[in-house]
Amino acid sequence: MTNNLLRKLPKVDQLMLDERIQSCMPGIPREKAVDIIRSTVDEKRKMIIEGSMEETAAETLYDSVVADIVHALVLCGKNSLRPVINATGVVLHTNLGRANLSEKAREAVNAVMSSYSTLEYNPETRMRGSRHDHVEKIITRITGAEAAMVVNNNAAATMLTLAAMGRGREMVVSRGELVEIGGSFRIPDIMKESGTELVEVGTTNKTHLRDYEDNITENTAALLKVHTSNYRIVGFTEEVSVRELKNLGEKYGIPVIYDIGSGLMVDLSEAGIKEPTVKQGIDQGADLVLFSGDKLLGGPQAGIIIGKKEYIDRMKKHPLARVLRVDKMTLAACEATFGDYYSRAQALENIPVLSMITASEETLRSKAEYLKSLIDGLDLGYTSEILEEEGVVGGGSAPSDRLSDIVTAVKHENFSANEMDLLLHGGDNIIVSRTRNDRILFDVRTLTEKDCRDISLRLKEIAE
Ligand SMILES: *Cc1c(COP(=O)(O)O)cnc(C)c1O
Repeated sequence: MTNNLLRKLPKVDQLMLDERIQSCMPGIPREKAVDIIRSTVDEKRKMIIEGSMEETAAETLYDSVVADIVHALVLCGKNSLRPVINATGVVLHTNLGRANLSEKAREAVNAVMSSYSTLEYNPETRMRGSRHDHVEKIITRITGAEAAMVVNNNAAATMLTLAAMGRGREMVVSRGELVEIGGSFRIPDIMKESGTELVEVGTTNKTHLRDYEDNITENTAALLKVHTSNYRIVGFTEEVSVRELKNLGEKYGIPVIYDIGSGLMVDLSEAGIKEPTVKQGIDQGADLVLFSGDKLLGGPQAGIIIGKKEYIDRMKKHPLARVLRVDKMTLAACEATFGDYYSRAQALENIPVLSMITASEETLRSKAEYLKSLIDGLDLGYTSEILEEEGVVGGGSAPSDRLSDIVTAVKHENFSANEMDLLLHGGDNIIVSRTRNDRILFDVRTLTEKDCRDISLRLKEIAE
């Protein structure tokens, strides 16, 4: 049985001559194409030997090998990490790369990646400079903090802060704030890895100031407050504010560290987002505030630490700082992103994360109408309608806040929504959307007009 299938398995030389395969070869080095053909045949052979292929597959074996090779050849010209059209409406979609950068940030990255730069060079003194200086000046000016540094992400910022501030000592945290962020980042685990002893106080729903005070010892290194950025505790609850912690800390000479998570720089309560801002953290007296670069700040993946110079200097000198340091592209994007925060209006306009979140219903509706008109204009068996949906910010931010989204819901006379979804993933542009009631929902909050045109083009290809 197996032998029959094995006999039918085409040879590499034979496949090289197949027209369908040959048509995919231009632009691909011959060795690479041969390699792809050989490994596809090897895979099929393995499947046959393992018995995971039906005897009846013999009839179609040749064509199925060719189809697999064609698929692999088409993909091999493309990078694995490539752009996606995000039609989910989730602005900070962690799986899709969180924040899109502003135009200024993209330009700044482009400039330093294609040329040598002043990364660690001071052109005035002609001496060695510090990579921290580029962003520190602007971050301190915008946030009002004394000093700042940037590391790889907020998980790294937390790790470095705990290691530099608390190693061999204790840190007091509320039981209501022992957060887990996606990807196995858990406050108790990070605490342990940093060599700091976690002192949990209070209960899940209620923690009082006296709970902190009762647990302060000579060995207390800091009071840590963690913003519950991806969940909310509601009902019979109580937490201690940064200001109260600050007063307590002063009484005992202990610093207060605030992991604020999202890095929101401008108040967004009008848009329905009730998250604390970075400035509030500093104004309320936190000695150190930590946050992500690519959540509500709208910049590159980074962890930003701001606060007292004395502590930031200690962190800059810590051996982990070198392990967690960021490259020039991140620094360039950070500097440019903060540059848009001199004016609130400019930030809302230029930073994609903020403009998407604050987009008016009118703007969303007209974009949804635009997409609908493109799809209706195809006249290829699609029907579409505009619907109102509930949206979220995503990225572990503002978990209980809802945005009102407008979607263009699309149905085709011959394809189910699941078949369409599969086809939307198969084009040059990968299009990620939601499906419901056998319709594809294109949520326009996260779409540009060009995305709308690309979606319409792909729908045209699918129907044709
Ligand atoms: C998101 C988040 C982190 C982790 O930040 P990354 O930049 O994703 O590493 C840490 N703490 C809090 C409170 C967060 O919200």
